[in-house]
Amino acid sequence: QCIVSCPVGALTEKSSEKKVWDAIADPEKKVIFFTAPSIRATLGEEFGNPVGTNVEGKMVAAIRRLGPDQVFNMDVTADLTIVEEANELIERITTGGTLPMFTSCCPGWVKFCEHFYPDFLPHLSSCKSPQQMFGAVLKSYYAQKNNIDPKNLFVVSVIPCTAKKFEVTREEQREGDFDDVDVALTTRELGRMIREAGIDFNSLPDEQFDDPFETASGAGAIFGATGGVMEAALRTAAVKLDGKCEPLEFTEVRGTKGIKEATYTVGGVTVKVAVASGLANAREIVEGIIKGEKDYQFVEIMACPGGCINGGGQPVQSDSVRNFVDLKTLRAKALYDADSSMKLRMSHESPVMDMLYKEFFEKPGAHKAHEYLHTTYVPRGKYQD
Ligand code: SF4
Repeated sequence: QCIVSCPVGALTEKSSEKKVWDAIADPEKKVIFFTAPSIRATLGEEFGNPVGTNVEGKMVAAIRRLGPDQVFNMDVTADLTIVEEANELIERITTGGTLPMFTSCCPGWVKFCEHFYPDFLPHLSSCKSPQQMFGAVLKSYYAQKNNIDPKNLFVVSVIPCTAKKFEVTREEQREGDFDDVDVALTTRELGRMIREAGIDFNSLPDEQFDDPFETASGAGAIFGATGGVMEAALRTAAVKLDGKCEPLEFTEVRGTKGIKEATYTVGGVTVKVAVASGLANAREIVEGIIKGEKDYQFVEIMACPGGCINGGGQPVQSDSVRNFVDLKTLRAKALYDADSSMKLRMSHESPVMDMLYKEFFEKPGAHKAHEYLHTTYVPRGKYQD
């Protein structure tokens, strides 16, 4: 274990680096890395880059030099989450299902809901998070297509927080007798591995993710900032309900304010939405709904203020930087800039989605999609694990 941040060592982050080095050295294992949307906007800080530098190309190059077999882009399954989640939202709205629907891609929020609002669990989208969807895609579709025994696949996600380390161990997300994801590494752990390997990060050339999970949409990229999942889902839901999405950017749900609210009318359907980051704000939203003071159709919650760009596994800046630089806004800007520079801005337009549904998952919400891409939750007491 390595001790981070806590001056008395009472809080520890369980390090997973050795397991990953061992898997890379094991000739029986095919090791696959994938990186969450926010990592490109934060990893550079580990190597002295200014806050908000997008280092996607160098990040891919550095991971490749650690020795895994492939490096994939988790924005792909952020897109897949949106396609499934938008389908679920429209189904709930049009068939009288449980509303408001809450996003479920933040395991910190999901566990908070399981402990403190277990009666609220039917409101959570049944979609797995992008991390868990990617593991499921790799150990089902990808393993079958490439004739690999999924037990020989060693799947490593690079993620912004330790809540995602807990998520990979959730019993109800196991596929048979193995986990979707074998190890979740935080941004800081990846930074340490790159330093341990003696890689000069800032001198690396920019490289691209590997096929077939290289191409994703701008909607997938903005997942890492509060409001990003909401905006990505609204883009796809608007097209499904109205045949178009104009304007493409839902600026009312952007920014680092703790609670944001907006009302949109698409295809004749009025959708009231809320976005909250930070668990005190999540509690305020849920209590408002329980008391009948608030009425929404769709709510995005992220446990960390500002979203994943501010997760507990992200680089730690000194007080002298934190006091003068708005970390959350600058890191989020790197993701919104990436989105606006892309031709592909909507999740359902990604050619990788076409490939996955045609070759394996049939269609959004289909039985096979549910089998691999959706999950259930566990009501827990306030003082249980
Ligand atoms: Fe993890 Fe925080 Fe992102 Fe939730 S918001 S997934 S706890 S980094």
